[in-house]
Order: sequence, then structure tokens, then C-alpha cells
Amino acid sequence: MLIVQKYGGTSVANIERIQNVARRAVETAGKGHSVLVVVSAMAGETDKLINLAHQINENPSTREMDLLLSSGERITCALTAMAVEKFGKKAIALTGRQLGIYTDSVHTRAHIEYITGERAKKALKDGYIVVVAGFQGITKETEEVTTLGRGGSDLSAVAIAYALRADLCEIYTDVDGVYTADPNIVKKARKIKKITYEEMLELASLGAKVLQTRSVEVAAKFNVPLMVKSSFNYNEGTLITTEDKDMEKVVVSAIAHDKNQSKITVKGALNRPGIAALIFKSIAAKNIIVDMIGQNIAKGDERADISFTIPRSETKETLKIIRDLKKEIGYTDIDVNENIGKVSIVGVGMRTHSGVAAKMFETLSEHGINIMMINTSEISVSCIIDLRHLEMAVRVLHDAFGLENELNAQLS
Ligand code: ADP
Ligand code: ASP
Ligand code: MG
Repeated sequence: MLIVQKYGGTSVANIERIQNVARRAVETAGKGHSVLVVVSAMAGETDKLINLAHQINENPSTREMDLLLSSGERITCALTAMAVEKFGKKAIALTGRQLGIYTDSVHTRAHIEYITGERAKKALKDGYIVVVAGFQGITKETEEVTTLGRGGSDLSAVAIAYALRADLCEIYTDVDGVYTADPNIVKKARKIKKITYEEMLELASLGAKVLQTRSVEVAAKFNVPLMVKSSFNYNEGTLITTEDKDMEKVVVSAIAHDKNQSKITVKGALNRPGIAALIFKSIAAKNIIVDMIGQNIAKGDERADISFTIPRSETKETLKIIRDLKKEIGYTDIDVNENIGKVSIVGVGMRTHSGVAAKMFETLSEHGINIMMINTSEISVSCIIDLRHLEMAVRVLHDAFGLENELNAQLS
């Protein structure tokens, strides 16, 4: 079998952990498999590099930013290959460029277009363990270094697994699988043995950072068999796959949360066709992703309050866009709330069950939690609430839907 193993930042955070990764790769090879390892930068390294850049220049060029950020993964991939050799097995470290990962030219959030993988294929055939630097690629035209967005090593692993037709893609992290809620917040959270690509995609996009959203999207599109496991033990992990008869039959499968959004309200905007289009077109033009949108029409129909949420890191840039449009929008005031959080319930069973949203709202109200905005999809309901209440909301919803108990979950 060809197995791709991705190790995240905490799994390569220091020398001992890099040695642990190398040992596990060698063990896997010892069972007769071909092994390709994808590594992240050491935990905290990418943040440190971003911080350094911002100390030098508050508006660094994204091209230089990518050159800088890609260096974290270069370090761990070279060190991991050295560690494998120390264990007596041949290894070769490859950067994104050396593996042939070609992307578009949207610096800091590039999309992978194709992977050639020639050197990796040859090295695997020759019995090497191949260690690849995650999170990076190069553009086709000018071979600029690009990075794939935060958490992007997950995407590197899935895309390489597909390109090389690997039999399995394992994501090793600091938890031993996908849980019914973030196990660092809900002690009673339960590990899910198997989850559909669809539910995992919804969970990831609603903030469960255990897998990067685009990595799940690509895995689903190309049917890449994906597992989440811990690099610190040999527990079973979670399989992400297409639906089958052994899946849990539940209405709500898991709770997700997101602490990284801001809410902006444009107050007293002119209530006429084209205003919303102007606001959101201008924000989209800067590649800023708007999540929830709501509108209240004030008395007399002449003015509207338009609220929306965006990633908190984009607050300043979004405010500038709105202020530049003051004349056209005609607003009276802008309200910014950076202390919000989003809590979501996710489950394919919602398609055929009613009353799930009502139960969520009731549970939040019983705990005195006010809902600022609501969003629904076919398989999820999300609420924007005060950030101070976010962790409590995750816990009380986990209890209310009985997620700690497999049997309860099945009956809910
Ligand atoms: P890595 O650095 O290995 O990529 P991440 O920090 O990106 O690791 O992802 C792992 C983290 O995801 C866990 O430590 C956990 O706090 C968080 N997480 C959020 N939701 C979930 C969930 N439903 N199941 C498991 N982990 C979750
Ligand atoms: N090092 C990058 C980040 O911190 C990519 C990754 O870890 O997946 O976002
Ligand atoms: Mg991650």
C-alpha cells in the first residue's frame, strides 16, 4: 500500500516529536508499505513568522510573505528526513517546488491546480521514505512560491494522496480523531468512528479546525480515503468516507464553534436596490469571505441596517472598504463587534427531522444566551452569540442533544 501520513505542528514541535514522527514512518514502512510523509511547521512557527513580518511592515507584500511562511515547513521536512535516516532507512526531503505542486497565483491562499510528483514517485519506487514540506507550492508561469492558507498542510497531504493514487491519507494531530465537539472544550465529547465527507465538510467550514475545509472538499471530490489519528498513541481514529450502512443514524452528529469572526453592522443604509450588491461586491473583490448576512428595515422603509460577519483578521480592511463607500451607501453609523462567536449544530439527520433548530434556540435561552444572528443550511444551524458564552454554549448543546452517549444520539 502507499500511505500518505501528515503530521501537524504539535506533532513536530520539537526534536523528540520529530524523532517520534520518523519512528512511526519507519514502522509503517517496516510493514511493507510505501510511505510519504507531509509535515507542517513546528507549532507556533507560522504565527511567529507572521508576527516578524508585521513588525517590519504592517502591510507586507504577499509574495514575500509566502516566501517567508514557506520556510517553516522546509525546516521540519529536512529535519524529519534526517531523523528517518538516523533510524537506518533511506529518506529524501522535498519542498513543494521539488515535488511539483503547481498552484494559482493568489498568494497566501493559493489553490492547487495540479501535482506532477515525478521525483516522489521515483524515490518511493527506490525504497525511500519521502518527506514533503506541507502548505506550499509554486505558480506555473513564474515559479513564485505560494502558500495554501492556514492549516494548508492538510490540503497538501490530501492532494498528494490523490495525485499519487495513495491507498490511504492519514492526518496525525494532537487528538485521536474527530469528536462530537472540540475535546479541549467538552470533556465528555465522544470520538466518532466514521463520518461522511459531507458532515465533515460542514463541521470544518463551521470552525472545527481538526481538518482544513478545502482538504475535506478535495478528499470528497476525489474520494480520497481519509483518517484522523493521534501521533501520540495508537488509538483507532476517525474514518472520513462516503455514507454506508454502519454509520451512526443520528439527527445531530456534532457541535462546531468558531471564535475568529467579527460582526459589522452598517446602520441606516439607504434602502434601495443595489446597495447590498455594492457592499458585498466590494468586499468580495478583496477576497474577504462574508459568512452570515442579515438585514433589518427601519420604520418608514427608507433606511436599513445591514449586518454581516467576516473573519476577525479582516475587520480593518472591511471597515475601510465600507468607509470608502459612505457616499453611495448613505449610512449613518457603523457598529463593530469583535467579541462574537459562532456555535453550530451539524447532522445529516436534520434533513428529515423538524424541531431541531427550536431545540437549539430553547437550550441557549434556558442558559441566558442571547442570539444575535442565525443561519441555516440543509444539515446545520448556526447562531452568533457573545464570545463570553461560546464555550458554555458548546457544552450545553452537547448535553441537550445527548451527544456523549451513542445510544442517546441515535434516539434524539
Ligand atoms: P494540527 O496542528 O495537527 O493541524 P490543529 O490544531 O489544526 O492540529 O487541529 C487539531 C485541533 O482541532 C484539536 O486540538 C482540537 O482542539 C480542534 N478541534 C476542533 N473541533 C474538533 C473536533 N470536533 N474533533 C476533534 N478536534 C477538534
Ligand atoms: N503551518 C501552517 C499553519 O500554521 C500550515 C499548517 O500547519 O497546516 O497554518
Ligand atoms: Mg491543522
